[in-house]
Amino acid sequence: MAGRIGLYPGTFDPITLGHTDIIRRAVKLVDTLVIGVAINRDKGPLFSLDERVAMIKEAIADLGIGDKATVIVEPFDELLMHFAEKQKVDVIVRGLRAVSDFEYEFQMVGMNAFLNDDVETVFLMADAKYQAIASKLVKEIARLGGDISSFVPPTVAPKLLAKVGGV
Ligand code: ADP
Repeated sequence: MAGRIGLYPGTFDPITLGHTDIIRRAVKLVDTLVIGVAINRDKGPLFSLDERVAMIKEAIADLGIGDKATVIVEPFDELLMHFAEKQKVDVIVRGLRAVSDFEYEFQMVGMNAFLNDDVETVFLMADAKYQAIASKLVKEIARLGGDISSFVPPTVAPKLLAKVGGV
């Protein structure tokens, strides 16, 4: 991997249009973007790791950002900073939605600085129309039969509906 390396970590259960908007912005800042998929057994993901990785790869291919940066999708199951060090990451990218994300992110940056102060964290905000999107709520809406097409990439919608017993 050459040049500046960014790491965008998350659970991506499933990837949403909020995530893809952050990815589209992040590739303008780095040469290589590693999308780190947290295995996150504790969160009890709806989709398996393989399913989440496959959906991310499909969504990225559709973004047409291959000329901006090299994007790779990599699962991880360890301390974020250890994973970042192994991947030789320069910068961790996080998305900020509302004030509610801030408190947690603020603490994470503070703790991560103790672990490795050379890796910076940058925060990006999604376009206003995507800011309210959260995987958790999208799953809830799908379960209750709502229209999820404004929240997830077109390749994800049918998979989510099938998973929750919809169409
Ligand atoms: P979620 O919090 O929706 O379960 P993740 O854990 O996969 O999603 O989140 C990964 C990263 O993407 C986090 O930094 C999170 O704040 C960010 N993110 C998720 N959805 C959005 C959004 N709609 N706008 C901006 N950032 C987002």
